[in-house]
Amino acid sequence: MSEFSLSLNDDQQQLKDWIHEFAVDVIRPAAHEWDEREEFPWPIVQEAAKIGLYGLDFIMNAMGDASGLTLPVAIEEIFWGDAGIGMAIMGSGLAAAGISGNGTPEQVIEWVPQCYGTPDDVKIGAFCVSEPDAGSDVSSLRTRAVYDEAKDEWVLNGTKAWITNGGIANVHVVVAAVDPELKGRGQASFVVPPGTKGLSQGQKYLKHGIKASHTAEVVLDDVRVPGRCLLGGKEKLDAKLARARERGKTGEAQPAMKTFEATRPAVGAQALGIARAAYEYALDYAKERKAFGKPIIMHQAIAFKLANMITRIDASRLLIWRAAWLARNGGFTNGEGSMSKYYASETAVRVTEEAIQILGGYGYTREYPVERWHRDAKIHTIFEGTSEIQQLVIARAISGMRVE
Ligand SMILES: Cc1cc2nc3c(=O)[nH]c(=O)nc-3n(C[C@H](O)[C@H](O)[C@H](O)COP(=O)(O)OP(=O)(O)OC[C@H]3O[C@@H](n4cnc5c(N)ncnc54)[C@H](O)[C@@H]3O)c2cc1C
Repeated sequence: MSEFSLSLNDDQQQLKDWIHEFAVDVIRPAAHEWDEREEFPWPIVQEAAKIGLYGLDFIMNAMGDASGLTLPVAIEEIFWGDAGIGMAIMGSGLAAAGISGNGTPEQVIEWVPQCYGTPDDVKIGAFCVSEPDAGSDVSSLRTRAVYDEAKDEWVLNGTKAWITNGGIANVHVVVAAVDPELKGRGQASFVVPPGTKGLSQGQKYLKHGIKASHTAEVVLDDVRVPGRCLLGGKEKLDAKLARARERGKTGEAQPAMKTFEATRPAVGAQALGIARAAYEYALDYAKERKAFGKPIIMHQAIAFKLANMITRIDASRLLIWRAAWLARNGGFTNGEGSMSKYYASETAVRVTEEAIQILGGYGYTREYPVERWHRDAKIHTIFEGTSEIQQLVIARAISGMRVE
């Protein structure tokens, strides 16, 4: 058990400074261009891989930290640089988390490195849960996984919607229904290895924000994967299904929910990075810009906005750090992971909107970055559990009741 502390240790401070430098020198200068191009920023991810910011070692180092703070600290700096590029750098982490959370040690060793490739041959991963008719309601997935015993293969059919890195990833982790009657308890996760026949990219979505992150449909048409691609293995799945059939439910979290629970403080940290970027920019601007003979920060209406922005930002960071620490040291008891993601996401939307207001007409134009930050912030109240779903998780945790 590690002590909870608000001071970063020397390694964490050095890491923070190092990522900040990369965000200032490489990510920020590229942000506008990739937002306009609306394409995956391969050259930037490759640069991140060359310095060791994108890759297996980085993730292992961050995940190995007992305090839990290394990952949110790193993510805040990356997203301070830019959220679209940030998602391109961090998106593979969801696939890696899906494998680590549900796979055997052998599966983790085999597949997680393939989500990242090497600095000379960068690869990406995708975690495919959502479907056109099942986003928040992950228990209603229609994608089916059927076991072909004669060949020891699983056959996957269905369509996944809004998948980060979908169709361009090396490794796709797919959550599918093995026994649809059991809803969430009848699902399992599968690795679809690179180059598997039948997996293709459907439409690429054009988005409101995080445009440098690739989001697309993934179509699974008789995709056959070997038995060893079932994460956790067949014996464990059979036992789980048998228990679920006997008792109606297993008490075990469904695979998709397990992954999302673990990654919530990290998603909160993404939103926090955007909010801090907008606040810092607006603060500097408010000290320079004059109206009615004085810097606009001398008008209480503007100064109070900034006071409110930094208060919410600091509160978000405290919630994120607490949740990240708890995730490694005893676990959540009151929906603390959801609290951190919910509060930081709503804060990012509000703070970036206030930043536009403080910059006035300039803030509304694409010459200044605050309108981009506002667009980028909004996704955080939607993906990896909407704000409403986070409140549902918190409400259930505090009441012990199945609030609907
Ligand atoms: C850019 C982007 C990237 C994404 N990346 C991925 C990815 O990599 N992998 C992946 O699997 N998915 C991904 N998603 C999908 C994302 O997780 C879903 O969009 C999200 O979970 C919401 O689902 P939905 O869009 O179906 O909305 P719905 O579930 O239809 O919700 C619509 C509205 O109803 C509300 N609502 C629904 N149920 C309830 C309830 N019980 N109580 C109160 N309110 C409710 C919601 O909060 C929301 O406001 C991504 C989405 C986007 C836009």
